[in-house]
Amino acid sequence: MSTANAYLTVRGINIDVIYKDIKNLHIGVYPPLGRVRVAAPERLDDEQVRLAVIQRLPWIRRQQEQLRSTPRQTEREMVTGESHYVWGVRHRLKVVERPGRAHIETDGDRLVLFVPAGTTPDKRREYLDHWHREQLRHTIPDLIARWEEKLDVRVPKWTLRRMKTKWGSCNRETRHLWFNVELAKKHPDCLEYIVVHEMTHYFERNHGERFTKLMDSHLPDWRSRRDQLNEAPLADEKWEQQTND
Ligand SMILES: [Zn+2]
Repeated sequence: MSTANAYLTVRGINIDVIYKDIKNLHIGVYPPLGRVRVAAPERLDDEQVRLAVIQRLPWIRRQQEQLRSTPRQTEREMVTGESHYVWGVRHRLKVVERPGRAHIETDGDRLVLFVPAGTTPDKRREYLDHWHREQLRHTIPDLIARWEEKLDVRVPKWTLRRMKTKWGSCNRETRHLWFNVELAKKHPDCLEYIVVHEMTHYFERNHGERFTKLMDSHLPDWRSRRDQLNEAPLADEKWEQQTND
């Protein structure tokens, strides 16, 4: 996957632009969060791309809404044989029914869910969600501590939250950070990228040039981490539209 070579914000929507030796401009809106990528002919400049994006804004917004209202993956039955991601690695679920407290273990590429017989799919999903949160609760404090030291800042409070459109967020007044529970399914490098991204908002509110420069100095490979984070599982669909500029 190639890395974007321009980042535009058009009416609040972040756009990655890749200039290529192509004839037409392509706009794609990608799951899971509706990220927008533009492949543009090299003869166009950022301003021309911005105008093309503005023309397609109603279509882009429609695609994003559609993505965000569709369940990310087909609804899981939480039965043996399903794939579930843990820290970016695909695991095969194995459900073991047995009396006692429910718990989850990983065993190689297996994710083993021990539950009492008769546990409903909803309840099983809840156990997995709880377990994902636990993974994050164990991992995030060290990450934050490391970056507090590197950036010489304090994070007074952070919270896990299920979010539909964001991987993380930052309240600059209270310095409170939020992280999406879905991050437990992504590679740990992606989590670190989000931690650094949100902490970088302590220094700069907007995703402008200054923010990009700060990120470049904090975490030089942040672009590839971001691309990895936004890569959709192979099974997911992709929406794409070609426009003639
Ligand atoms: Zn941000």
